[in-house]
Amino acid sequence: MSIHDFIKKIKNHEIDIVEHTYKLIEECKEINKEYNYLNTISEDLALNSAREIKIQLKQKNKNIKNKKLLGVAVSVKDAICVKDVETTAGSKILKNYKPLFDAFVIQKVREEGGIIIGKTSQDEFGFGGFSVNVGIGFKVPKNPFDIDRSCGGSSGGAAGLSQKLSNHIALGESTGGSIVEPASFCGVYGLCPTYGRVSRYGLIDFANSLDKIGPIGKNIEDVALLMSVISGYDKNDSTSLNTKNENYESHLKKPVKGMKIGIIKEAFGQGVEREVEKNVYNGIEELEEEGAKAEEISLELPIRYGIGTYYMIATSEASTNLAKYCGMRYGATEKLEGSFNEYFTKVRSSNFGDEAKRRIILGTFARMAGYRDAFYLKAMKVRTLMIQEYKKAFKKFDALVSPTASILPPKFEDIEKLSPLQHYMIDVMTVSPNVAGLPHLNVPVELECS
Ligand code: GLN
Repeated sequence: MSIHDFIKKIKNHEIDIVEHTYKLIEECKEINKEYNYLNTISEDLALNSAREIKIQLKQKNKNIKNKKLLGVAVSVKDAICVKDVETTAGSKILKNYKPLFDAFVIQKVREEGGIIIGKTSQDEFGFGGFSVNVGIGFKVPKNPFDIDRSCGGSSGGAAGLSQKLSNHIALGESTGGSIVEPASFCGVYGLCPTYGRVSRYGLIDFANSLDKIGPIGKNIEDVALLMSVISGYDKNDSTSLNTKNENYESHLKKPVKGMKIGIIKEAFGQGVEREVEKNVYNGIEELEEEGAKAEEISLELPIRYGIGTYYMIATSEASTNLAKYCGMRYGATEKLEGSFNEYFTKVRSSNFGDEAKRRIILGTFARMAGYRDAFYLKAMKVRTLMIQEYKKAFKKFDALVSPTASILPPKFEDIEKLSPLQHYMIDVMTVSPNVAGLPHLNVPVELECS
């Protein structure tokens, strides 16, 4: 059943929303036993919202029938604040934090009758591409098709749950690929919007100039629906775009015929698994059969320098964002003793995971006087060059195509052998559109595991 049909049935009283939500929560608990997609299941909140909808439907409340997400379950990446629901960004340092407010996107979901079912698992603060860098004490989510493999990251829980749970849409977040990459590993759609299109108000920051919230879902219609709900101007986010709201669902009806599609030359060949390449080309062929015109384009700068540029900017911003978790202003505390430095060191050492510590050191180094020009400012210059290269490409093409990830979901035992740099390479295709603020979408082409 599509989400549209589901909403219709709720409106026509063919489905009892309270019963349905109860069953769905039980299903989440069952799925979680094996797959670890949810850090928190917000059972009370979900059932209360369902009861409220039921009452309003009974009272034939005028507004209720116009709600775009009426009764639809929405899961939320743990980096997005939900009032009174534990929100940790996957980190021990934020354990037990219950926000006093809803993020902008959560306000929107609730206004449209969506039901928040819980907080999905992720790499700590979004630091990773396999969801294995979870904070101390958190569980690693597993691929819905093979529990020995990764479901990608950092929105791994969101993507896995989207594949496993019907009548549900997920809210993910991406800084360098964390929506589309896990979506590709789990065979679902994920849309990382244009920077500023969706408000970041209430998002626990990773890197402010890169972070974007976006939908992940089993069907493209679901992704478009949630995108229409969460996008729009917000005065509480100074980087929010003040442009008119769009109905993303209307775009789905537009024909592919006549579209010009650029195949990114450097995104194929060396380093890309054969199955991945073959399936992406099959997808391109399908587009051509529908009347799209595909042609190769060289985009050397984004593919070659994307990773280096991204990691300088992302870690620089992350290291400043994490400075506030010092045991006094935000997050976990410890027994107050010793000098300030000793105290801060104790709190941060025992509550941040290894990857968070690595990024704090890397980012602090890149921003230091003496190194800033060589690293951070250089990266900002390359960022501008990348934007220019993309602008040139979009003069000629309507869309660009590449694999989302160059490999199939790896096994955990193989991920363990990777160096930090090899971990970073997983986002070689996706960091550059993030650096340039561009929207990108994962379209599943084939399910294949070697
Ligand atoms: N894998 C990238 C990183 O570790 C991107 C993560 C993200 O988009 N949050 O930084």
